[in-house]
Amino acid sequence: MSSMLELVDVHRTYQIGDSTVHALRGVSVTIEQGEFVAIMGASGSGKSSLLQILGLLDKPDKGEYLIFGNNVNTLSEDEQAGVRNNVAGFVFQQFHLLKRMDIVDNVRLPYIYSGIKEDFRQEAVKRLKMVGLEQRIDHTPNQLSGGEQQRVAIARALVRDPLIIFADEPTGNLDTKNSAEIMKILQGLHAEGKTIIMVTHENEIAAYAGRVIAMRDGIIVSDERKPGMEPTAKVAGESGFDIRSAEMGSLWQNGRFIGFIAQAFQAILANKMRSFLSVLGILVGVASVIAMMALGDGAKEAMQEQLKSMGSNMLSIRAGSAKIRGAAQGAGAIARFTFLDVDAIASLHTLVKNASGVVNGNGMIVFGNKNWTTSLNGVGYDYGTMRATIPSIGRWFTPEEIQTRQKLAIVGVTVVKQLFDNTNPIGKTVKINRINFTVIGIAPAKGFSGPQDQDDVVFIPVTTAMYRVLGKTYLSGIFVEVAQPNLIQRTTSAINELIRKRHRLKADDDSFNIRDMTEVQQMLSSTTQTMSLLLGSIAAISLVVGGIGIMNIMLVSVTERTREIGLRKAIGARKNDIMLQFLVESVGMTVSGGFIGIILGIGVSLILSFFAGWAVKTSLISVVLATAFSVLTGIFFGLWPARKAADLKPVEALRYE
Ligand code: ADP
Ligand code: MG
Repeated sequence: MSSMLELVDVHRTYQIGDSTVHALRGVSVTIEQGEFVAIMGASGSGKSSLLQILGLLDKPDKGEYLIFGNNVNTLSEDEQAGVRNNVAGFVFQQFHLLKRMDIVDNVRLPYIYSGIKEDFRQEAVKRLKMVGLEQRIDHTPNQLSGGEQQRVAIARALVRDPLIIFADEPTGNLDTKNSAEIMKILQGLHAEGKTIIMVTHENEIAAYAGRVIAMRDGIIVSDERKPGMEPTAKVAGESGFDIRSAEMGSLWQNGRFIGFIAQAFQAILANKMRSFLSVLGILVGVASVIAMMALGDGAKEAMQEQLKSMGSNMLSIRAGSAKIRGAAQGAGAIARFTFLDVDAIASLHTLVKNASGVVNGNGMIVFGNKNWTTSLNGVGYDYGTMRATIPSIGRWFTPEEIQTRQKLAIVGVTVVKQLFDNTNPIGKTVKINRINFTVIGIAPAKGFSGPQDQDDVVFIPVTTAMYRVLGKTYLSGIFVEVAQPNLIQRTTSAINELIRKRHRLKADDDSFNIRDMTEVQQMLSSTTQTMSLLLGSIAAISLVVGGIGIMNIMLVSVTERTREIGLRKAIGARKNDIMLQFLVESVGMTVSGGFIGIILGIGVSLILSFFAGWAVKTSLISVVLATAFSVLTGIFFGLWPARKAADLKPVEALRYE
């Protein structure tokens, strides 16, 4: 029958820069089941290197390693992790407990990387009782003495009921009394049939073992079994272990994933300020995208509402250039429209259904001791139906009232709120630019058009506005309702021709402009396009910048937790377990940042709509998009640090200071 562990001419060299250290120079040894072996030797003689190879934490450069006759050099890293998890328990000089978890969670850690389903907690508590720590169940490692911490580490090594316990200077950090206690525990385990391989440089500690292997300069110089300390009885049925059958379970088993989430948030919260600063980029990016999308959607919706209320076959003729205002035009370049123009346009019978002149200005409106500056619109009779402004409370002007320059006013709801405290204004007398007017109606609410409040308005007869209030002799513009939607093109050119003829304008003279709603619609969609382009670039920039912040902090986190990674690998974590753990952490960070960003973005848009009166509309889509982007950023930028963590060799990680 083959031995439990067998090394044949094993070599191990380390490369530090240019120099090579030959730590093991041809070690051959066999260890039987049930032995208690102490590996002794001076510091640097290769004891730990040997133990790490025996414990499958490291691979030899040369030589064979057989477990129950099976060569383990051919196993992949993950398969080795499986073997460690199933047959080995590790105890280290530095204990290697995870500080953020209580000791029960520390002890049951090897379980979550196994394929076994059991009540791990109960098992962990059982082992803690075995090492005499039942009183300390809900303590964290920091609350325990060194001796107690090492007992927790032993409980962790025992929790999977391993065949072999590997201990590297288990008493190296402990005083004599605690050392003796730890050795008694190991002795007891040996008596129960466990194989124990222990590294030490102290004779008193080695005295507990049944066999002492002495090393010097990377080779074994002596190997003695004490008389009467033969290997304990071979436990029936337990001899032999198929190294390829190590059950590891899936990534999602044994609460691994849930555990990673909980640990990720623990880690994030343990460094609150640092985490917050790291996610700032994501946070600001998400917040601005949410707020701008809300604004854009709000403006778009308001404009569409407005378009609907205007009717689709509407033309607006305005004096002045269609070009940017301020472009040199010269005197008299602005067309001066009069009622004669309105009549002329209205007489294009087959094309035009209605035409109405308007004059715009600002008015100071006073009621009692309150005053309010608002936009003053002088309108004709047909304006009411054309622009859907006929009051549902009160009434519209009559044609006679408009003709005879009556001092009557129809007010918008914002004016009602500001001036009348939302009480009924009809029949009240107000002063508009110092002239007394009687309110006869409230204009239907229209809401916002972009940042502009369309209800902050007063309508008065166009004649009154021109001759009594604003002192203008010309109209500001003319609204035209085309007879049929398909006549818009023809009507536009007919009106164009008519005005040029009447005002003796040259063909290239653009002292007025005619707009139809298709133009407005085009403008709308091009604004929307610009908006989404802008949003897209903000999102892209902020996510890249934010992502780099995340990558940076994750690299720091991986470095800081090198020893934790080493420990997790030693007890059986596979590459993907480590990958997933760090990915969950980076996604946890970006999602937290994204979440705060969403709240901030919604907050900002609410504030804008409340104080600045802008139309905003937060859509579920923007929230879903922001969340999805946060998750993707976390995965993308967390991938490299997570891979770095997963690629760490267990020995390197455990040796890291
Ligand atoms: P011991 O445990 O007996 O003190 P080790 O097995 O730890 O000795 O180390 C043996 C030799 O190998 C020492 O000279 C040590 O400096 C070197 N060594 C061990 N591990 C590494 C490593 N990861 N990189 C470089 N040199 C190492
Ligand atoms: Mg050592």
